[in-house]
Amino acid sequence: MEATRILRPLVAGNWKMNGLRSQLAEALRVRDALSGPGPEAAADVMICPPATLIPALAEAARGSKLLVGAQDCHPAAAGAHTGDIAAEMVADAGAVAVIVGHSERRVAHGELDRLVRLKAEAAHRAGLTAIVCIGETAGERAADLTLEAVGRQLHGSLPDSARGANTAVAYEPVWAIGTGRTPSAADVVQAHGAIREALVTRYGVEGGAIRILYGGSVNPGNARELLRADNVNGALVGGASLRASDLLAIVATYAH
Ligand code: PEP
Repeated sequence: MEATRILRPLVAGNWKMNGLRSQLAEALRVRDALSGPGPEAAADVMICPPATLIPALAEAARGSKLLVGAQDCHPAAAGAHTGDIAAEMVADAGAVAVIVGHSERRVAHGELDRLVRLKAEAAHRAGLTAIVCIGETAGERAADLTLEAVGRQLHGSLPDSARGANTAVAYEPVWAIGTGRTPSAADVVQAHGAIREALVTRYGVEGGAIRILYGGSVNPGNARELLRADNVNGALVGGASLRASDLLAIVATYAH
C-alpha cells in the first residue's frame, strides 16, 4: 500500500523486567549515538525500560532524539489498584508511549483483548502512543490459523480512538519471542499485509498511517531482511535492545 511506504520507522526496545540503574548507561549510549547525523536519523528510536527507570531515563533523554516508553499501564486513571500504574502516571514520569497486550502479559497475567483495548484507550486518554501487541501462538500457526488469530486480536484490542499519531501495532508471533526463531520474510509480509488491510478497512486513511512493527527475535543479523519487508514500519525488540550496539545496528537497517 503506497501510503505506508512513507511512514517513518519506529524501533522500540522492550527491556522487559531487566535493568537496574546501572543499565541506564546502555540507554545513554543510544541517546548519544542519536545526537549525530548518523543513520539513526532515519528512524524513531525508543527504549521502554522497567517502570522504575522511566523517570531517570526520561530526564536523561530530555531534549535528545531518544524516546522513552513504558511496558504496561492500568485502564483506570487512579484508584485502589495496588501495584498498578496508570497511563497518566506513565506520562507524568516522562514516557511518551506504552506497550499494551504484550504476549507475556496476555499469558502470565491472563490479559484478554478487551482489557488490552481498555489499556490502549487509557494510553490515548493520557496522551501516550499505544503500542498494541498481537500475534499467533505456535499452535495457531500449526493449525494454519495465523491470520484468523491476528485479525481477531487486532479487532478486539484496538480502540476506536486509534490513529496514526497515537498508535502502533506490533505483530509478534508468540513462538518467535525470545526463542531465536523468526518467521520468513514472506510470512511477515503476509501478516503485515493482512493487518494493514484490516486497519484501512476500519480506520480509513488513518489506518494507513498506523505503524506496524515486527517483533520476535529481531537481531542485527536478521533485521535487514525482516524490517525492510513490505508494510513493516519498524520493530519491537526485546533481548537485543539491552545492548546499545545491537539496538543501534538494528536501527541502522534503515540507513539506506
Ligand atoms: C519482545 O519482548 O517484544 C520481543 C520481541 O522479544 P525478543 O526480541 O527478545 O524476541
